[in-house]
Amino acid sequence: MFAQPQRNLKMVDQTLARFLNELRILTMLRTQGPASRADIARHLGVTPATITRLINGLVERDLVREARKPYSVTDKLREPGRPGGQVFLNAEGAFFLGVEIGVGVMRFAVIDLLAGVVDSQEISIPRDTSPTLAVNAISEHLSSLTIQQRYRDKIHSVGVTVPGIVTSEGYVVNLPILGWKSVDLLAELSRAVRLPCSVENNANAAAFGAVYTQPSLPSVCTIFLKLGTGCGGAAIVNGRLLRGAGGTAGEFGHIRLSDEGALCSCGQKGCLESWVNLGSLARSLHGTDQLTESQFAALPADVVAGAEQKDPVAIKALDDFTRWLTLGIVSLINMFNPSTVILGGVMRPVLEFTLERIRTGVQSGIIPGIPVPEVRLSELGKFECAIGAATIAHHHGFDISRVEISEQELQP
Ligand SMILES: [Zn+2]
Repeated sequence: MFAQPQRNLKMVDQTLARFLNELRILTMLRTQGPASRADIARHLGVTPATITRLINGLVERDLVREARKPYSVTDKLREPGRPGGQVFLNAEGAFFLGVEIGVGVMRFAVIDLLAGVVDSQEISIPRDTSPTLAVNAISEHLSSLTIQQRYRDKIHSVGVTVPGIVTSEGYVVNLPILGWKSVDLLAELSRAVRLPCSVENNANAAAFGAVYTQPSLPSVCTIFLKLGTGCGGAAIVNGRLLRGAGGTAGEFGHIRLSDEGALCSCGQKGCLESWVNLGSLARSLHGTDQLTESQFAALPADVVAGAEQKDPVAIKALDDFTRWLTLGIVSLINMFNPSTVILGGVMRPVLEFTLERIRTGVQSGIIPGIPVPEVRLSELGKFECAIGAATIAHHHGFDISRVEISEQELQP
C-alpha cells in the first residue's frame, strides 16, 4: 500500500529519501491535521518542487487529497505564489484490521488511515479454541470484509493480540488461559491471510492503542495497566512499546507488594495482580472467587453499587483495591517517571469510582520532586485490544525503522 523502496542499486538513495519523506508527510497529516504544501515543505525542509512531486505521488495512490480553494487575498499573503489548498489524509485510502483472541470470544476492529475506528464486531468462539481454528476465524472475517467495496484491496495489514506472553517475533511462548504453548502464531497467521501481520500481547496492544489514538497526549513515557482477570501492563517510551530483550517486558501485575495474599497466576504470592484483579474483588465482596462468568462480568458494577448504598463490605473491598492499586502505580511512577498513567480493562466502574482517591494517593506516595503524572482511564472501551492491535498494524505501515535495505543494496 505504501511505497516500498525499489531494489534498484543506483536509485536506492533517492527512492529511500522519497519513501521516508512520504512517511513523514503521512504522519504529519495524521497527527497534526490538514496542512498547506508550504507548511509541509517547511516541516520536511525540502524545496517546493520536491514537495510537489511527493504530494502528487501520494495523491495518485489516493492516500492524500487536496482541497482546492479559490484564491483569496489572505491566501496569497499567507502562501505567496502557492495554491491556497489544504492537503489532508484520505481516511478511506487504507484500512487496518485488529483482532483480539480472547477466551470464548474474538473481537475485530477496523481502523482507517486516520486511525479512526470504522468497524467493530464480536463473535463467540469455542473456549478451547486451537491456534488453527482462531486463524481460520480471522481469515474468514477478513474475507467477509474484503468482499465489501469499501475495503476491497485496501486492507493493508492485520494485527492480532492474545492474553499471553508473546516474543517480539510474534511467537506465543505461553498462553495458559487457552492452553497454548510454543505456538508460532505469526507464521500461521501470515500463511493464512497473505498480508503483513503482527502478533502482540493484549495489554501491550491496548496500551499502544490508548496512546496512538490520542496524538495530543505527551508521548515520551506512558505507563498502562489493564485490569481484569489479570493485571497486564505496558510501557510506551518515545512512541514505542518497551519490549525488553525478548519482548516480554511490562509484566507490571507481578510487582511483589507483599509476601502474603492469594496465590498469583505466576505462582508467587503478594503480586499486584492478586490484590487488584477480579478474583480479589470477588473474594472481598463474596468471600470466594469461584463465581460464574456472568457474576464476574457484573462484579465491577456490583461492588460500586454496594458502596453507593453504604454497604460496609463493598466499601472495604474498594478501599483495599484502591490502596493496593495506588501502591503499584506509585512504584511504577518512581521507576519510570511517566507523564501519563492510563488504566484500562473491564474494571472501569470501579476505576471511575476510585480515580480521585488513586490520584490523591499517587500525589502523596511518590518520591518528592518527581513530577506527578496524569492518571486517566482508557477511552477505547471493550474493543481496546482489537483497536490496539489495529493501531500496531497501522504504525508498522508508517514505521521507518522497519524499512529493510540490504548492505548489498546500499553499495554504489
Ligand atoms: Zn504474579
